[in-house]
Amino acid sequence: MEPIVLDPLPVEVDTPQLLKALHIRAGSRNADEAERLITEAVAIARPKVIYKLAFVESRSPDAVVVDGLTFTSRVLRVNLDGLNRVFAYVCTSGRELAAWAEGQADLLARYWADAINQAILRGAMVAFERHLTQTYRLERSARMNPGSLADWPLSQQRVLFALLGDVTAAIGVELTESLLMVPTKSVSGILFPTEETFASCQLCPRAACPNRRAPYDAALFDKKYRTG
Ligand code: SF4
Repeated sequence: MEPIVLDPLPVEVDTPQLLKALHIRAGSRNADEAERLITEAVAIARPKVIYKLAFVESRSPDAVVVDGLTFTSRVLRVNLDGLNRVFAYVCTSGRELAAWAEGQADLLARYWADAINQAILRGAMVAFERHLTQTYRLERSARMNPGSLADWPLSQQRVLFALLGDVTAAIGVELTESLLMVPTKSVSGILFPTEETFASCQLCPRAACPNRRAPYDAALFDKKYRTG
């Protein structure tokens, strides 16, 4: 299958939730200013995604071959057991919003703009997953991102980008020499159908991570992913 681009994805921001996360009291002067920035951001933002429906071709104990490219990760390999199709993707809040956020002169406005940018990226991922659910009748799914676990290091971004083709031309996301994505408010990964609940955070012991999506389960790796 050829990669598919959704541009733009809907812009979705939960303003009350965002104000709460920023510790801004509703009705305050700060709330007025933050809401003004949110309105500006929503008008400018053009989040987008490139994704590809790809097929698992073969497996070894610590790797899986998808559309001819090898992803080396024991956890990914086990998570894809019994599956044929996966969705590789790069989703971004877009260069338009990155330029707007970086252009904020005031320090506090810059901080809020960064949080708004992140919230728009989260909303874009929700819209993308909704699209997959509706288009491919996915019931439940989970995703893994290169670099989120030592088991699937950041260097695997190169394989993911190779699978998706010219990501920069398609949605403006560039992979730097140091394997970071520009604009930084971008996420990449493999999404797969699953009956089980899975989040990489379950295998990640990092304390006090602001983005944690599931509690750390110290026994899970040995129980499910250890070889032999
Ligand atoms: S806990 Fe934080 S660092 Fe660890 S996988 Fe989850 S989001 Fe990433």
